[in-house]
Amino acid sequence: MRCSYCSRDAIYFQRHSGKHLCRRHFTDSILRRVKRNIRKFRMITRDERVAIAMSGGKDSVVLAHMLKRLYGDRRDIELVAISIDEGIKDYRAPTLEIARKICRELDIEHYVVSFEDEFNASLDTMVEKGERNPCTYCGVFRKYLLNRKAREINADKLATGHNLDDEAQTILLNFLQSDIERLARLVPSKVQKGLVPRIKPMRELYEQEIVTYAILHNLPVSFEECPYSETPVRAAVRDFLYDFENRYPGRKFSVLRSFEAILPCLHEKYPQISLNECKICGEPTPREICQACELKRELDLS
Ligand code: SF4
Ligand SMILES: [Zn+2]
Ligand SMILES: [Zn+2]
Repeated sequence: MRCSYCSRDAIYFQRHSGKHLCRRHFTDSILRRVKRNIRKFRMITRDERVAIAMSGGKDSVVLAHMLKRLYGDRRDIELVAISIDEGIKDYRAPTLEIARKICRELDIEHYVVSFEDEFNASLDTMVEKGERNPCTYCGVFRKYLLNRKAREINADKLATGHNLDDEAQTILLNFLQSDIERLARLVPSKVQKGLVPRIKPMRELYEQEIVTYAILHNLPVSFEECPYSETPVRAAVRDFLYDFENRYPGRKFSVLRSFEAILPCLHEKYPQISLNECKICGEPTPREICQACELKRELDLS
């Protein structure tokens, strides 16, 4: 099959646009979409230091590669990367190795922060000690460390590798669970003191496009799943969206667009509350004590 734009062979069929794309036009189309999304939400502006949350999974590796291509020759934009080593046996070490490798190859300064160093316990130990779902410990402590490290190294933005599939799932999941306040917080309405603004440059890229980009550019990615990943409701929403998108291409975009259309109303109904400094660690929190300090106390960690 020929590319819809040139005479080369197509390597990808973009179902939502009905276009067949060669390697070059596929990459152009993806980068253009990422750039448009960055501009639309003013995610990266002049003279900024952008920290990439680098897990070593396919999304973060592709994100780093794309940002380097888009901003590598801009002298006023600096890219750095932060990896969090949660301490998940047999899973984190290989992905961290990939993170180190890609940062070396792209010449991106790389910081690694570990649960063990910061909390004297790996995620595996926390899971053994505590009663909560592993993803609760992981999510709370990872966000906490990412934000703290990003602030310490004077990053202006913290870029994460969320893609269209992730975003559409989260939006739908919040509707299905009637958690509209959380939905409103998916895109913060204002910058909060102490909180490095998060950006999602790939929020309009399908996961399939990210995988294809990784393969086309020979990127060292891992497709390993975390051994704790067990979120049946999200998996059901993912499967539903996959099936729906297959039958009616473009529907994941529709979910995102509908969300953007109602976002101003959501922000009006659930205005963002100003954050306090946690009484124990000083990190930003809507409460008196931040969630990380609460979990630390619960787990009896120093
Ligand atoms: S699936 Fe694994 S890496 Fe992801 S939040 Fe849960 S514990 Fe952490
Ligand atoms: Zn082409
Ligand atoms: Zn705290």
